[in-house]
Parts: sequence; C-alpha cells; structure tokens
Amino acid sequence: MAKTAIIEAHGGPEQFKIIDREVGAPGPGEIRIRHKAVGLNFIDCYQRSGLYPMTLPHALGMEASGVIEAVGEGVTHLKVGDRAAYAAQPPGAYTEERVMPAAQVCPLPDAISFEDGAAMMLKGLTVQYLFRRTTPIAAGDTVLFHAAAGGVGLIACQWAKSDGIRLIGTAGTEAKCQLALDHGADACINYRDEDWVARLRDLTDGKGVDVVMDAVGADTFEGSLDSLRPLGFMISFGNASGPVPPFAVATLGAKGSLKITRPTLFTHIADHETCQQMARDLFEKVTAGDVKIRIDQRFPLEDVAEAHRALEARKTTGSTILTV
Ligand code: NDP
Repeated sequence: MAKTAIIEAHGGPEQFKIIDREVGAPGPGEIRIRHKAVGLNFIDCYQRSGLYPMTLPHALGMEASGVIEAVGEGVTHLKVGDRAAYAAQPPGAYTEERVMPAAQVCPLPDAISFEDGAAMMLKGLTVQYLFRRTTPIAAGDTVLFHAAAGGVGLIACQWAKSDGIRLIGTAGTEAKCQLALDHGADACINYRDEDWVARLRDLTDGKGVDVVMDAVGADTFEGSLDSLRPLGFMISFGNASGPVPPFAVATLGAKGSLKITRPTLFTHIADHETCQQMARDLFEKVTAGDVKIRIDQRFPLEDVAEAHRALEARKTTGSTILTV
C-alpha cells in the first residue's frame, strides 16, 4: 500500500485527501518506482483548481525521484535498483510508490541527490527547452524572465549566466530580487513596486529585450509585449496570476512584428529519446556546478495542502519538495 494525495473535486487546497492505495505490478512499457522525494509545481495548482481540468478522482503531482522496484516488458533503459527521476504524465507523483509509463523516467546520476532530482526535473527540463529548443538565443542576447526567484526562475537565472546570456528578472519583493541576483540575474526589477516596463526600457537603453519568458500570465502579458525589441520573441508559458486573456493578433504587427509561442514541456518530452537527451543536458549543467538546485521549502506529503497554499500565496522561493 502507498500513502497517496488525491482530489475528488476541483477547488482549493482543502480538496486534498490522503488515502492508502494498492500499487500493483507494471505492465508493458511501465515501471514501478518507490519515491524518495516529490517535487511541487505550479501546474499542480492549475490541475487542483480546475484551470486545467482532469477526470476525477485523481492523484496529483508530475515530478519525483526514487528507486526502480520493478520493470515491465519492453523497458530497456531502466532496471530494478536504478536511481531515477522524472517529469511525466499522467499526474500521480504525490505518493510513496506508483506504477507509471517508463518513457519519461530518466536514470539519475549518482552525483545528484534524490531531493535535487525531485526538485529539478520538471523545472529544469522547462528551462532546457526555453533556452535550447524554442528560439535561437545566443551569448550576449538579453532575456526578460518573470518570477525569477521561483523554482523555474532560479534555474533559469543560473542557466542564462552559464551560457553568457544577459537575464533581467522580475520578482515580487526586494528579498526575492536579491535572490535572483545571487543566482546570476544581471538585474532584477521588483514588479510590484516599480513601473517595470519603464525600468526595463532604461536597462536596455530604450531598445527592449530579444526574448521574454513569461509564466506570470494575465498580470504581465501586455507589459511583456511592450518590453520586446522589434522582431522580438515572446514565450508565454504559464498563468501564475491567471490565464492570458484573448488578444488581437494584429497587436503583434503594431508592436514591431513580434513573434509569440505558448509551449508546454509535455510536447517537448513526448518523444522518449528527446526526453532522455534533454535530461542529459540538464544533468550536465547540474553536475558541472553551473546550476545548483535550491530547495527552500520541505513539507511532509500529508501537508500537501499547506504546500499548495504557500506556493499560491507567493510565499515560496526556489523549489519546494514533499518528503515521503
Ligand atoms: P514558482 O516557484 O515560480 O511560483 C510562482 C511565482 O509566480 C510566485 O512565487 C510569484 O513570484 C509569481 N506570481 C506572480 N503573480 C502571482 C500570483 N498572482 N499568484 C501566485 N504567484 C504569482 O512556480 P514554478 O517554478 O512551479 O512555475 C513557474 C511558472 O512556470 C508557473 O506559471 C508554471 O505554470 C510555469 N511552468 C510552465 C511550464 C510549461 O512548459 N509551460 C512548465 C513548468 C512551469 P513573485 O512573488 O516573485 O511574483
């Protein structure tokens, strides 16, 4: 039996129930993994609230690390006893042990702890595709990154620094701005206190940035478009403040032939080989010491509702994990 956090209805963090669940044996293409740590992500909040609806009841969670307990037919990249970590669908990582598809589960290098593995897969693979697979970004280019002191944000600050990319962050307090600067951001604007679009223009000598990475969504979308140089590239990849409202495509022309994409990690990692390659790229950054995983909050699995409340109240920095 495995202790598991599920929801039976969409809503607030009070919807979580802790149950004991049979784990079962893996079928073809599946593995059984005993978790050592579980990662918390903002997408879990969207799934819990119903912004991203799902069939219920369902366990939540999309990121974890652990030890492979059993391997189904046809799985060749993992064996019993291997250390492993993943960002993967379907949701169900908020548990001690589970059976799941093997394709997106990656062997975890010995040099990376289980806690770091659980805290970095979904966030780190996201940073990998943002910087390496979305639009060409070269050393010397300038990127605006919102919520730079968050889980994805602190990895992005370090990734940019190690690739010679100038990252200008935003964050909601002075302390968060300082954290982003300490992790490699070249500048960080407190967007709750300042006219951040004007400040951004000053920081770029009036030119604007090459690329914006915006997962704050509703509150920042328009300012983000106004922060780009002509022909600049907008990556809208999340909705922490609410979904981006519909907008007129002609706006992109009026603001200087801008380009825009709305990617999701799960498109990028759908192919097994691509996923494993992206993970190796991420692991290299971490084992080389270019990216350090910062875990600022730990909650026991039973307190997952508290963890969600903290994340949604903007009280967290860096990564958050659930201990099992
Ligand atoms: P974070 O740790 O970054 O937490 C979210 C942060 O967003 C908060 O700490 C807060 O930082 C900021 N924020 C701004 N406005 C609000 C608001 N109204 N309510 C809550 N938070 C707000 O989370 P993650 O690292 O897990 O994820 C970061 C973002 O990236 C999320 O939007 C997530 O959905 C997105 N994402 C998208 C993926 C994709 O492939 N499309 C994959 C992974 C993540 P501050 O106080 O500094 O403003």
